[in-house]
Amino acid sequence: MFEKVQNFIVMGKSGSGKQPRVDVLIRRFGLKQLSTGDIFRHYLGLFNVLNVEGELSVFFDPTKDDFIADAEIKDRLNITAHENAEAIVLGLKAKYYVNQGRFVPDRITNALFESAFQALEFKGAVLDGFPRTVEQAQFLVDLANRKGVKLDAIVLVENEDELIIGRTLGRRICKSCGELYHMEFRPPPNPGECVSPNPVCDVVQRSDDNIESLKKRLEEFRTKTRPAIEYLKQAGIPFYSVPGNLPDYSPARVEASVCEILGLASTSPSV
Ligand code: AMP
Repeated sequence: MFEKVQNFIVMGKSGSGKQPRVDVLIRRFGLKQLSTGDIFRHYLGLFNVLNVEGELSVFFDPTKDDFIADAEIKDRLNITAHENAEAIVLGLKAKYYVNQGRFVPDRITNALFESAFQALEFKGAVLDGFPRTVEQAQFLVDLANRKGVKLDAIVLVENEDELIIGRTLGRRICKSCGELYHMEFRPPPNPGECVSPNPVCDVVQRSDDNIESLKKRLEEFRTKTRPAIEYLKQAGIPFYSVPGNLPDYSPARVEASVCEILGLASTSPSV
């Protein structure tokens, strides 16, 4: 049934446990992960290097419900001549939304997604965290139709809000290699230290992993992503729901649970 897979879409609340399920699909089908969250964190990192203090709302004009002009932002940040000025401004805008737990506007997200998808020639991707709104879902379905590529299936990782809150507040991530930790279930070997021997690795809490931001993300999922899932189902993309919480967690069990739901033979020797 999943013979010549082109693209999977993995959806779920932020912190629902998407990554281990994405890893299963990557290994199983030789796909590449395309995460809009990772794209935003890349730009956010470029902006963070400037160490700008204070509220980012000073760059936002509520009367226009948009940011002040890019030229004005560059001027205030003193980066007009910087070779990465455009990317830094994008990082500022992404940070403004990400830290509040709000979705980045569709216009920005769709453009960044399309260029990353194009780099993969629109095939061989596990789309992680995209689409998240009906507009993004429409954009993706149109794009796939125009490029003549398949969206093989939606895999929704389901998890309860209460469990997600506990897991996410304890979550830590290596800024450099992306390795995930949890202060209770998988603490880093020493505070701030990654298992990777790379000396630039640094384990931190994501700037958006706080309770206010998390509650907002859960609300965004309920009001914007649930309707997007319905849109994709209506568009005829096969839909599968996998559990994000396994009572007895192990990589083999995650793999088995994904394989079982997709009707694939599990390659794990024992679970
Ligand atoms: P994630 O790593 O997928 O949890 O994403 C982190 C944050 O990036 C989200 O809370 C949003 O602020 C932003 N983000 C990621 N993907 C999208 C998307 N498809 N649409 C809008 N915002 C997004």
